Amino acid sequence: MLARRVVALGIAVCVPVLIGIWVTDAPGDPWVRWGYPPLLVFLVAFAWALLSPGRWASRIGVIVLVGLEAWWLAVVVGRVVEQPDAPRAWVALLPTPLLDIVVCVVVGFLFQRARTAVLHGGAYSAVITGALMASFAVKPGGGPYVWLSLRYGVYLGVFVVLLLVLSRAKERVATALADVAAADAAATAMREMAYRDELTGLANRRRLIEELWFQAEQVGPDLPVGVIFFDLDHFKAVNDGLGHAVGDRVLQVVAEVAGQVVGPDDLLARLGGEEFVVVAPGRDRTSAVELAQQLRERLPDAIAAAVGQRVTASYGVAWLTPSENPSEALRRVDELLYRAKAAGRDRVEPAEA
Ligand code: GH3
Ligand code: MG
Ligand code: MG
Repeated sequence: MLARRVVALGIAVCVPVLIGIWVTDAPGDPWVRWGYPPLLVFLVAFAWALLSPGRWASRIGVIVLVGLEAWWLAVVVGRVVEQPDAPRAWVALLPTPLLDIVVCVVVGFLFQRARTAVLHGGAYSAVITGALMASFAVKPGGGPYVWLSLRYGVYLGVFVVLLLVLSRAKERVATALADVAAADAAATAMREMAYRDELTGLANRRRLIEELWFQAEQVGPDLPVGVIFFDLDHFKAVNDGLGHAVGDRVLQVVAEVAGQVVGPDDLLARLGGEEFVVVAPGRDRTSAVELAQQLRERLPDAIAAAVGQRVTASYGVAWLTPSENPSEALRRVDELLYRAKAAGRDRVEPAEA
């Protein structure tokens, strides 16, 4: 994140510079000797508050910022007052306002809303300028420096306007990015809705047909693609006997348990009603029939555990032919399913080799 890096860089640059100034200037300058150690602590606390999430951190950040600004104001006025004459006061002064304006601009740009940043930067610039002008006004020979201070005040105003422009641009970019993210999320949700069966959360018919189109193009001598079509037995009687809600629960249990039985490469879909399809790339005869048998064995007990009644299913198993049309593939495997039903249900009917 940009803000994090800028603050880290600011700390990495400021701390050694302040320590360096303290080492060289502290003996002759009481402002540096007594002011810089707390300033260092403040800067580090400020960086911490800027980068920490939460309301407390942001409150502490505001308090520390106001503290820093008050300190700088005191330094500006103090330096003018303590120097014996106006020209020396001006020279002693110079780096400080620059430093605090940089902090204002960076903090405003990175962490405040455009309005807050401008009000804050503008107010602070006005206070600093006013304090400088007043300090020089009461100093002998300070007249020209009152006007110089005003000139620098105007420069500060330009900085603040620049800050406004940058902050606004940043806000626009943030809004645009948020819009893009929202549109992206909406598109993902729509795609999700378009491909999901609402009751079971499985892939729906549309998704199944797309997968069949795709897999039919992958089929080859080294890549068999099994298609298992199963339909619950006498499901109408479950609905009639236990109620539609229990029927729905049965369908959900089928989805849950079958989802655990199929492998990570298999696609389990609900075609509609109580009919399900597994598309199983890489499964040859043995493997696909074995998967169908596992489902046939596992599902009835799982359903009984959930609703108190065993419900079996019948299975047809076929393999896609290269470039086969999905409706043709489903017709073939449906025929096998029909054979399983006719032969007494609760069984697996594979296509002939
Ligand atoms: P068979 O063994 O021949 O498959 O008999 P069956 O009763 O399972 O088949 P049939 O096609 O006669 O009945 C299917 C039933 O599935 C009828 C319908 O009310 C029910 N059904 C379809 N969709 C849903 C659903 O979303 N929820 C519930 N609870 N029932 C559904
Ligand atoms: Mg049925
Ligand atoms: Mg059916």
